Amino acid sequence: MSGVEYAYAKLNLALDILGKREDGYHDLRMVMQSIGLADEITVSPRAGAGTEVGTDLPYLPKGDGNIAAKAAAQFFAATGLPPVGLAIGIKKRIPVCAGMAGGSSDGAAVLRVLRRVYAPQLPDYDLEKIGAQVGSDVPFCVRGGTMLAEGRGERLSVLPPLPPCWLVVCKPAFSIPTPELFAKVQVKKLRCHPDVPGMVRALEQKDLEGIARRMYNVFEDVLPRKYQQVFEIKSTLLGLGAMAASMTGSGPTVFGLFREQDEAASAAESLATQYPSVFLCRPV
Ligand code: ATP
Repeated sequence: MSGVEYAYAKLNLALDILGKREDGYHDLRMVMQSIGLADEITVSPRAGAGTEVGTDLPYLPKGDGNIAAKAAAQFFAATGLPPVGLAIGIKKRIPVCAGMAGGSSDGAAVLRVLRRVYAPQLPDYDLEKIGAQVGSDVPFCVRGGTMLAEGRGERLSVLPPLPPCWLVVCKPAFSIPTPELFAKVQVKKLRCHPDVPGMVRALEQKDLEGIARRMYNVFEDVLPRKYQQVFEIKSTLLGLGAMAASMTGSGPTVFGLFREQDEAASAAESLATQYPSVFLCRPV
């Protein structure tokens, strides 16, 4: 059914929280960016009902609990097409529980494959709406690129692409439960917010310096002490010449923005001596 479909990781160039909604979710405003680090997804029909997922990480769910399987179920439920038994293969490259939307991106990749095969007329917007039922980051991952994401992350506006640059991505060895950070956020007490409109203008003007100056994630403001390594990685990246460095999503992954490949490559090499998961990437 599919050759390899790439499921790209995302970074948050900016992440702001505007308020808490009556339904318990927070209102977000984020500048999202896909990067070249990607899981590899294959989708094939199989005899029998339902979806089986095989991954190279034994601890990930193999059946309905996998976000890729949830996306397939939601695709057939939302389109009304008769469900097809599927075997999904995932080669994980994106660190799990890293704030890089790895699972969401796998789900979005499955949606793209199923649309191509069963509903080629279905517009992006409709596929994104199906994705929103699967997870908050799935709609962005359907198209990827550079986008403004608002609401829970499902209200998307396409932005001009991030100008050519290099990203050094570093995930420390621990994870941060997303609900733990959301519980700490009191919107009125946040000391600082990213200048998202300014970042959008800087993207329009292809002003990498202006983008770098506005990179910020409000979760950093409420990060408990036990996760201080996030700030150590940020300082290291800045010391190694990054134009800016920020945490992505609810962490713990940190990334640095570099103009030059050489500088980024040597920063990645240096970080890799201290941290288990370091990647040198370009925006896609
Ligand atoms: P986000 O940036 O969207 O908050 P994340 O990087 O923090 O995501 P993921 O790696 O996308 O987190 O998802 C982690 C959780 O989802 C784990 O509990 C994992 O078991 C479960 N999961 C289900 N399916 C997948 C999948 N295909 N890939 C990764 N995790 C999956």
